[in-house]
Amino acid sequence: MLIQCPHCYKNILPRGDDSCPSCDGDTNDEKALSNPFRPVVFPIPIPEDPLCILCGSPSTELKVVIEKHRDDDALARNLFKVIFSVLTFGAGGTTDREHVQHEVAASVPLCDHCARFGNIDVHEVRYDRQSIAIMCHHAFRESIETEN
Ligand SMILES: [Zn+2]
Ligand SMILES: [Zn+2]
Repeated sequence: MLIQCPHCYKNILPRGDDSCPSCDGDTNDEKALSNPFRPVVFPIPIPEDPLCILCGSPSTELKVVIEKHRDDDALARNLFKVIFSVLTFGAGGTTDREHVQHEVAASVPLCDHCARFGNIDVHEVRYDRQSIAIMCHHAFRESIETEN
């Protein structure tokens, strides 16, 4: 039976010793299993009376989370840009457009307190799918599951 690994959150079939074939974590790890946070992939339709994704209280604010592509390969990229701009006589617009493609935004509901002091934990960003997986409290996850 497929289960969601409490460490890497992938849906996996545990090995004979109950370890996860994806991350080698123990799928019976009590501490990991009791963690109320699991990833939810945004954007999703926000319910009418949403709950805070961090604590599960009734939420009062929608916060927009924006993730931008991190330039891990800055040097190579700049080199490319220079060559590119020489070839195209400095068409800056092209690199700008490229940048916009590497940006994903999603609104998430937060209560007053968490909007001010909470830390949003981004689990995974998929620029190709325009999605962000954000760690959400189980109360929030239940509220969107009953909505659907
Ligand atoms: Zn795992
Ligand atoms: Zn909250």
